[in-house]
Amino acid sequence: RRFRHDYLEVRDLRVEFDGFVAVDGVDLTVTQGDLRFLIGPNGAGKTTIVDALTGLAAASGSAQFGGVELVGAKVHRIARAGVGRTFQTASVFDELTVLQNLDIAAGSRRGPGALLRRRSEVPAAVEEAMDTIGLAGARDTPAGVLAHGQKQWLEIGMLLVQDARLLLLDEPVAGMSHAEREETGQLLRRVGAERTVVVVEHDMEFLRSFASSVTVLHQGTVLSEGSVAHVQADPRVVEVYLGG
Ligand code: ADP
Repeated sequence: RRFRHDYLEVRDLRVEFDGFVAVDGVDLTVTQGDLRFLIGPNGAGKTTIVDALTGLAAASGSAQFGGVELVGAKVHRIARAGVGRTFQTASVFDELTVLQNLDIAAGSRRGPGALLRRRSEVPAAVEEAMDTIGLAGARDTPAGVLAHGQKQWLEIGMLLVQDARLLLLDEPVAGMSHAEREETGQLLRRVGAERTVVVVEHDMEFLRSFASSVTVLHQGTVLSEGSVAHVQADPRVVEVYLGG
């Protein structure tokens, strides 16, 4: 496997907003090929952890990926270390086609001109990403007219062509239809088999079909961790979910 030496190691991560501790000493280890879900009720600190790992929230503690310290690093340094993220609202270029969006993402480190490429010059990584995200048949469709789910897949595709080796996906199935969620599950399995993937999710139901490990957060701390079955049987998790 291409990325087998990659892993994310988070130690004592802490994020404070004006005296309010949103992330309170979180430890997290995610190895390559380990698709990890971060779950927990609203306000548990999930998005803030992703923000801290991508330079968008000031944090203390440590978070290393591929030997690079992410805490305190600038956004561009983090991207160069192979860390990519999605947001709850997909940020793609609506006027550009699927292919053009991917081509621009792939060419972002090689300068302009991606739009001028002929079809025969489409990089292999872009073709591969279109297959992986299931949008090869929609290559010439403007992103603006894609279904909600397809936009999310395109955003994941943009991370793949950027060669992100750690993908932090913030609620990728939010607002999706049942069919889209099923397809996203398959996509996450494909990507997660090769890369290091952390998926923020709040719906326990979506996780049921995964063999992946789950880290449950509550009030900025790790409440429980293990298989879906393990955390679901954990009385503390049951209490937080029923009480929440
Ligand atoms: P989750 O993603 O688990 O729903 P968040 O990480 O979004 O939770 O939020 C964790 C806590 O931190 C919440 O109480 C939220 O209100 C607070 N919070 C998040 N971002 C900020 C911010 N920029 N300023 C102040 N408080 C914030």
